[in-house]
Amino acid sequence: MTATAPIPETQKQGYVYIIGAGPGDPELLTVKAERVLHDADVILYDDLVSLELVDQFSGLKIYTGKRKDCHHFEQEEINQEIVRHARQGKTVARLKGGDPFVFGRGGEEIDELRKNGIGYEIIPGITAAHGASAYTEIPLTMRKISSSVAFCTGHPVSKIQVPDADTLVYYMVASTVHDVLDAVAAKGRSGNTKVAVVQNATRYNQQIFTGTLDEFRARERAVYSPALLIIGDNINQFIAENWHSKKKKVLITGGEAKRYSSTEYIMVHFPCRQIEGADLSKVNDSLRQIETYGVLLFQNKFSVKYFFKLLFDYGRDVRHLAKSRIISTGRAATAELQKYGVIPDQSLEPEGCGDIVGMFREQGIAAESILIPGSNLIDEYLINGLQALGNRVTPLCVYKHGAQELEQSIDFDFIDEIYFASPSCVNNFSTMFGSIPERITVTCADQRTEEEYRKMFG
Ligand code: SAH
Repeated sequence: MTATAPIPETQKQGYVYIIGAGPGDPELLTVKAERVLHDADVILYDDLVSLELVDQFSGLKIYTGKRKDCHHFEQEEINQEIVRHARQGKTVARLKGGDPFVFGRGGEEIDELRKNGIGYEIIPGITAAHGASAYTEIPLTMRKISSSVAFCTGHPVSKIQVPDADTLVYYMVASTVHDVLDAVAAKGRSGNTKVAVVQNATRYNQQIFTGTLDEFRARERAVYSPALLIIGDNINQFIAENWHSKKKKVLITGGEAKRYSSTEYIMVHFPCRQIEGADLSKVNDSLRQIETYGVLLFQNKFSVKYFFKLLFDYGRDVRHLAKSRIISTGRAATAELQKYGVIPDQSLEPEGCGDIVGMFREQGIAAESILIPGSNLIDEYLINGLQALGNRVTPLCVYKHGAQELEQSIDFDFIDEIYFASPSCVNNFSTMFGSIPERITVTCADQRTEEEYRKMFG
């Protein structure tokens, strides 16, 4: 055996997996993708990847979507991020909705990896068209009715094409359904051709709207997102009551999602770990010296809500914030602050974090001690920018990333039952949502949980 010197950290080559996460139902991930994700050091994930899915893995998670309150990544920057982590010798999972090679920009990402000599593999995913087809029972091809199918894009409008296929599936039609239908009609398809819009395919809140080409064209313009438009006579197969619509949708709070998966119902997993996401010893350090921060920056409603919960738990109140300048970004954060009797000194309306830094620069906020309560996902761009102005910046994790998407994403209209796994789930749930619609039945894991439920909601 020959001894080899260890490879210095900087020369180690990482490896990249470009992975399709499937259309939404977390169980539609492939077995291979699941294994690789468990081993990944870094997971860069997009908008359409469900948090329920990402949450199961322990690698560092970097959100590369386009949500307003996060850094807005352009494709070029995402490419650079992938390469940067791979160069550090890491195993990188690039996780995309559906399949990476169907309107997924997977091709661009592998170009970059080839250019940089970085090893990679592609792991396919179930594309939205296949998910929608299965969960609505609309076959994409069918003997005698449809012998060809085409996947097309509805965005940008200038790229809309109408191929000569029996079944057409359009992606990215959120605001362009009418443009697509006009193009299809102009191509000579009959006004009686069947049309379906499938929104949130394979998720608990999947919805389908059907009609004919003429009927849809006469309807008012609507935005459906994320949605697919399917056109073709296979849609005649559709029936409103199918296995997916009939199954009970149960919101499971807390615990390991897998323990609760069942064929009896459709599970919507809600981890309820938002508050425990905070690192209490760090939080308490900051709260102890809360008066020493010259600036408190709140970027969203959640940072306000959880900061105050922790402040009160620590036995302090708004009087301890009197000396600090309080800055909020966005209307939601400002409104939330007002609930606690605080009118911010400044409310900024930035487009992105670059703007926040610019605004701090304009106002001459330098050499200050700035506390930024937020999630466990740290916005390095913002922190570096504020530090470059000469400030001391302390990001403080007061909630676990995901709280906001979860709170905004759970559509209670589709939930039939809520299961509370523990008293702390009841408590966290109550902080986030306040109330439970009457129509929804509630079950509790044990007597203590039941007592907490009665206390909070009884
Ligand atoms: N690579 C993805 C597509 C990305 S483009 C795939 O293979 O599915 C984004 C578009 O995909 C959305 O605008 C929407 O048209 C479609 N889409 C993704 N997930 C969807 C879902 N759960 N339901 C309906 N459409 C979806």
